[in-house]
Amino acid sequence: MTGRKGRVVQGDDGQVQYESRSEVDVSLEILNIKEKERFMNSEKDIAIISEAASSGISLQSDRRVKNQRRRVHITLELPWSADRAIQQFGRTHRSNQVNAPEYVFLISELAGERRFASIVAKRLESLGALTHGDRRATESRDLSSFNIDNKYGRMALESTMKTMMGYEHPIVPPPEDYKGDFFSDIQNALVGVGIITKEDSIYQLDKDYNNMSKFLNRILGMPVELQNRLFQYFTDTLAAIISQAKRTGKYDMGILDLGIGGEGCKKTKTKTWVGKHATGTAKTEIHTVLVERGLSWAEIQEKWAELTGDLEGFYISHQVRNNKKTAVLAALEPSPANKKKEKNNRMFILYRPNTGMQMKQECYSDLKKKYKKVTPDEAQEHWEEQYKASSHTCSHAYWQGNCRRVNSGLECEIGLRRRTYHVLCGLVLNVWAKVEDVLSSSPHSSSTKMQVVRLKTSDGIKLVGTLIPNNLVGRLSAVMEEECTESYEETFTDEDSKDGTGDDNKE
Ligand SMILES: [Zn+2]
Repeated sequence: MTGRKGRVVQGDDGQVQYESRSEVDVSLEILNIKEKERFMNSEKDIAIISEAASSGISLQSDRRVKNQRRRVHITLELPWSADRAIQQFGRTHRSNQVNAPEYVFLISELAGERRFASIVAKRLESLGALTHGDRRATESRDLSSFNIDNKYGRMALESTMKTMMGYEHPIVPPPEDYKGDFFSDIQNALVGVGIITKEDSIYQLDKDYNNMSKFLNRILGMPVELQNRLFQYFTDTLAAIISQAKRTGKYDMGILDLGIGGEGCKKTKTKTWVGKHATGTAKTEIHTVLVERGLSWAEIQEKWAELTGDLEGFYISHQVRNNKKTAVLAALEPSPANKKKEKNNRMFILYRPNTGMQMKQECYSDLKKKYKKVTPDEAQEHWEEQYKASSHTCSHAYWQGNCRRVNSGLECEIGLRRRTYHVLCGLVLNVWAKVEDVLSSSPHSSSTKMQVVRLKTSDGIKLVGTLIPNNLVGRLSAVMEEECTESYEETFTDEDSKDGTGDDNKE
């Protein structure tokens, strides 16, 4: 099943010849459908399918067809994007099947292929984990960094290419063990595959130089050694860009994950709207979720007990604001590369009483500038004071004595250890136009993007939905109320479940 008109066939005499695929009474247009039927009816045992022809063709061991044997799905070339890979695997893995297929990937030793296959595999794992929540490990946040088909991948490609041309200062140095001029050799190899053009000894980047799939396809045409080196250089650049983004707290994970990094997550309210549509009724729900990010003194003690390094432990700020100092726990970022760094450049993960683990990591020289190392006893009162206050006092009020938002009668959640999120779930397609209207009506609509959130509450409830900014919940509710035929609200209290987040919860 392909988009081709002909095929190469070997006859009984060993002669190979090209023949047309068309059959007497079957036109080429419906030939693929016909071939699919033959496979599903057990007239043919092997189906060969190209990606181009595969859309709309299902080959699973369906209960309704004669051929119900287990499918063995062999992939010759893994697609560059995980989404496309999933689509392909779906050809043989669908509902109503008698048994699940076995997948076989053929991957060569070439760096470009092999390394990418592992990336796709990891990406698949993380997508699979979306539906099988229990397989999620705590470090699953990082799996997304193995996917290169995203904005960081494109930034890395852009930078790699500009570095090869000498337009940009290299983010990572050329490999030390490479004999020769790395940048110039790669540049010439890229001329060979058309990513760089050379006319009258003037080098120029092809207009598509930053196209990811073109890059990955083209480098397969480079000499093996250079291909492997270039791909390594590209992934090193990508790693450097991602770690830079993480360090500045700007790393965009695509999906907002709540409740998997140790922060407590609790559903407090669900509002349900029932609406009518062509084929029945549909429920749309908005869940109010409370997320506890803070770490009580008892909780941070457990973390502290795990630390072994002499730079690790509690620190308090040199700076005094509003008569207060801030206490943090610093833990060495555990990667082997980080441990090998020179002392001042080693990265530390910080924990705060009000906001828990920080996305932004700090290098030792900065840590030293802002904080001094103290014993747990010295840190305790500062830690507890901020932990307690952050259940209801925003950072502005805590550090400056007052908050402009609160003074003008608004709510302020900055620095609070508990945050409220609203997640829209259920059947949303039929009301999507209305939802979009509300979301774009925000005064800060330029900064409001559609954010997908996935969360797991402490009692094991899993939700995936769209994040609705708190200031728009009222408006969205009003719109939904008009649309629906029925609505109801449930509230959940935690009177009989201890959440262990501290003694001051009942204040
Ligand atoms: Zn405030």
